[in-house]
Amino acid sequence: MHIAGEMVIGQSAVMGREGQMKAIDPSRNVEIDPPFGMASAADLEKACSLAAAAFDTYRETGLEQRAQFLEKIADNIVAIGPQLIERAMQESGLPQARLEGERGRTVNQLRLFAKVVRDGVFLNATVDSALPERTPPRSDIRMRKIAIGPVAVFGASNFPLAFSVAGGDTASALAAGCPVIVKAHPAHLGTSELVGKAVQKAVADCGLPEGVFSMLIGGIETGSNLVAHPVIKAVGFTGSRFGGLALMRIAAARKEPIPVYAEMSSINPVFLLPGALKEKGAQVAQGFADSLTMGAGQFCTNPGLLIGLESAELDAFTTAAAAAVQAKPSTTMLTPGIHKAYESGVEKLSALEGVTLLAQGAPAAGCQARPHLYSVDVDTFLSTAALEAENFGPSSVLIRAKTAEDLKRFAEHLEGQLTATVQATADDRDIAGSLLPTLERKVGRILFNGFPTGVEVSHAMVHGGPFPSTSDSRTTSVGATAIDRFLRPVSYQDVPSYLLPQAIADNNPLNVPRIVNGELQAKKA
Ligand code: NAP
Repeated sequence: MHIAGEMVIGQSAVMGREGQMKAIDPSRNVEIDPPFGMASAADLEKACSLAAAAFDTYRETGLEQRAQFLEKIADNIVAIGPQLIERAMQESGLPQARLEGERGRTVNQLRLFAKVVRDGVFLNATVDSALPERTPPRSDIRMRKIAIGPVAVFGASNFPLAFSVAGGDTASALAAGCPVIVKAHPAHLGTSELVGKAVQKAVADCGLPEGVFSMLIGGIETGSNLVAHPVIKAVGFTGSRFGGLALMRIAAARKEPIPVYAEMSSINPVFLLPGALKEKGAQVAQGFADSLTMGAGQFCTNPGLLIGLESAELDAFTTAAAAAVQAKPSTTMLTPGIHKAYESGVEKLSALEGVTLLAQGAPAAGCQARPHLYSVDVDTFLSTAALEAENFGPSSVLIRAKTAEDLKRFAEHLEGQLTATVQATADDRDIAGSLLPTLERKVGRILFNGFPTGVEVSHAMVHGGPFPSTSDSRTTSVGATAIDRFLRPVSYQDVPSYLLPQAIADNNPLNVPRIVNGELQAKKA
């Protein structure tokens, strides 16, 4: 497919006339052709008016039709072939195997949401029958969830496929019945055009209204105006805390404030409990170094903090982890901007009082990130706010604690996180059990004996957590329940049967699971 530098506005491919931008090859720090035209206010208006016009038709598409649409998007992405991987490699510096895996994850995500739509559980179909003989009589009350409205999606730099144009936010919003307008991430414009046109084609293939999907190219102004536009009813975002907070402020200041589901910053603590250090310290040290440096450390689930109790075993772990980090190569980061931010984060960490540099990876060149491991005692950590800032990249801090109580103090002190990892054996049962209630309050996913990088796309996955890891701890941006962000409940009281939506009509014509008079009724086989 030819990459033309165009946006997708409904069924039109549009060359923006409000300035130009180019993607950058971070491995050579040079611009890549073609130039992409940026959206004007009229382009944004057109995308929004098409989305508004599509909304009522699209949200009432049959479950099967909507599921087939999601599967069609997946098929069309696969059909782009090697060009998609080649362009994404060029724009992101990420290796081929990683991007092929990410493409697999992206299409599986779309297929998972097709299943979620077919299952119909997300509708929360509920019927409370009338009780005319009761005193006072009860009306017939029914409830279902409907799509919230057109959604603005901001692609993330670190997942050019799985968290971008047809990534998790877009898949879950489309599954809910919401038209989507994506603001393409400037770091992977060509990848975005390829995927955007695959989604556009799926809209046509499935005979849906054209406003179901648009993708705009632009800068901060375009993104801000999109969030402020009255047609938009929710926002999905993955990126920096600064960017997420800016969009939240815009959304809150609107005449009609809207929810922003922003996934922002997390440093993902790993607890090294004594039994685990004794039994498998060296193995954990290697696993940690692998997790830290995967994808140049550019994961929101990167293990940025480790904590263990001072002991001979922690000393041995420290030596092994330092050696494993030192053996790691430096690898190209996503953008020169992200690289600069990482370098400055490393500089700040190195200058902090009480912080010791334990190891550095191989020397870096150009846009490469050099892995770093630091060490600090628990009291210094607790009194140094700068140590809690996310340094996006392969940098981590090992905290030495003196007592089990220190581990709890540390856990209580933490800001909200996406994950917490506990390395433990059965001998650590008491200490692990005492940490759990605190970790439940602080994080969205608690893992034992693994590493936080690598987020399974499944029904039970939570990729969310208290602020600042996300803007709303009640939801997730990965996994089947991500659809809930883009739905809202509506009750129908004494609505005539001939006007009732099918999900809550008599005799359950959609054959979806329902709660009828308080009892769960499964689908008929
Ligand atoms: P970003 O700077 O937050 O940008 C993400 C998207 O939001 C871009 O499309 C950007 O548009 C837009 N945006 C940012 N600030 C905005 C504002 N004030 N108003 C309107 N739109 C705005 O994130 P990034 O470029 O992906 O990476 C930068 C930093 O974000 C990294 O160094 C890292 O610290 C963090 N990050 C975190 C995660 C995570 O998973 N938690 C993932 C990626 C990055 P423009 O670029 O056009 O401004």
